Amino acid sequence: MAPDGQVLAPNLHESESIPEAARAEIDRLLSSGDLFRYTAPSDAPVALLEKEFAELLGARFALAVSSCSAALFLCLKALDLPKGAKVLIPAFTFAAVPSSVVHAECEPVLVEVGANYRVDMADFAAKLPQASAVLISHMRGHTSDMDAIMALCDAAGVPVIEDAAHSLGTLWSGRQIGTIGKAGCFSFQSYKLVNAGEGGIMVTDDPEIAARAIIMSGAYEENWKKHPGLSNSCAHWQNKLPLYNLRMQNLSAAVIRPQLPLVADRVTKGRANYDHVAAQLNDCPHLVVPPALPGEERAPDSIQFNLKGEWSDDEARALQAAAKARGVTVQVFGLSDGNARAFWNWQFLGDVPELPQTRAMLMRACDVRLPTRLSQAELDFVAGVILDAVAEVKG
Ligand SMILES: *Cc1c(COP(=O)(O)O)cnc(C)c1O
Repeated sequence: MAPDGQVLAPNLHESESIPEAARAEIDRLLSSGDLFRYTAPSDAPVALLEKEFAELLGARFALAVSSCSAALFLCLKALDLPKGAKVLIPAFTFAAVPSSVVHAECEPVLVEVGANYRVDMADFAAKLPQASAVLISHMRGHTSDMDAIMALCDAAGVPVIEDAAHSLGTLWSGRQIGTIGKAGCFSFQSYKLVNAGEGGIMVTDDPEIAARAIIMSGAYEENWKKHPGLSNSCAHWQNKLPLYNLRMQNLSAAVIRPQLPLVADRVTKGRANYDHVAAQLNDCPHLVVPPALPGEERAPDSIQFNLKGEWSDDEARALQAAAKARGVTVQVFGLSDGNARAFWNWQFLGDVPELPQTRAMLMRACDVRLPTRLSQAELDFVAGVILDAVAEVKG
């Protein structure tokens, strides 16, 4: 707040401080040097995190690893797909997602996404027959129609992995996102709801998937004995699977654990913040915030909206510049150079296919961070800047 009472542009990239409880635990770990998850005979911070996270999500097993991308990779490996197997992914996702498929020696097949950021079910159904697995990214928490996806995949016998990296706390028909498919993966990278700098976790109810992922994450020799309830499966797979060593270390768990009790409150705040800003943007004839599907209860910490009606690329760029000049970063996914969420930048795929519907969406979809800590005045400031910028461009 400025001295005259005016609200200043909030810093949308600043993190919240980590709960004080983390400090004592980190001190204890630094004093003892006990940083490796498998040194302590029991109750290592990483093991406790897995127990608490599984309880939070209502899942049987959780495995904490170095990133959500590592978790996605391990899930795909745990499915034991043949080399070159086709894996459907939405064409609107983060570059790390097709990368995890390539890393698992599979071939990503991109599925069209609609103007509402969700998987286009007609294109999905058309491409499913060639797929050995499906990896659904709930991009920015926008949940695709999981009932339709699960019905098609169950009928075809195709396993579904959920990339819930940025969706912790989102519900689909009352169920936690990430617990609907065979396995779900979450991120603790700094821009997500729980911030450890880096880190990821996978959840599953399937003991075979859990056991295989645990071994491959680097539970060498008999370290898998420190994962409860999986002795038979793990004993079976020991020494039969490669060790990729993607483990989480105790310091990360010490940073994450005290944030888990805050998730529910962050979800409630994020939802209210989002609704507050969305209502103001939807009042503008040049903007539209796509509604959630009926089954979805969101946990947003950012907002996406589309430029509605006729907008040229130059006008969209002018909007970004006008908002920036007022202190708010509006990112049009397809217009920021080299954006990692624009599929045409995924040159590592070789021939990147064309997906006209997803491209059209990316060229007019705007992304603004809305950290859950923002005050009402700060939210109004952000919404006001966007509306002023639209007015400047559209007159
Ligand atoms: C952040 C993110 C990832 C990658 O998570 P990391 O922990 O950084 O590997 C993957 N998918 C989506 C949708 C994300 O938002």
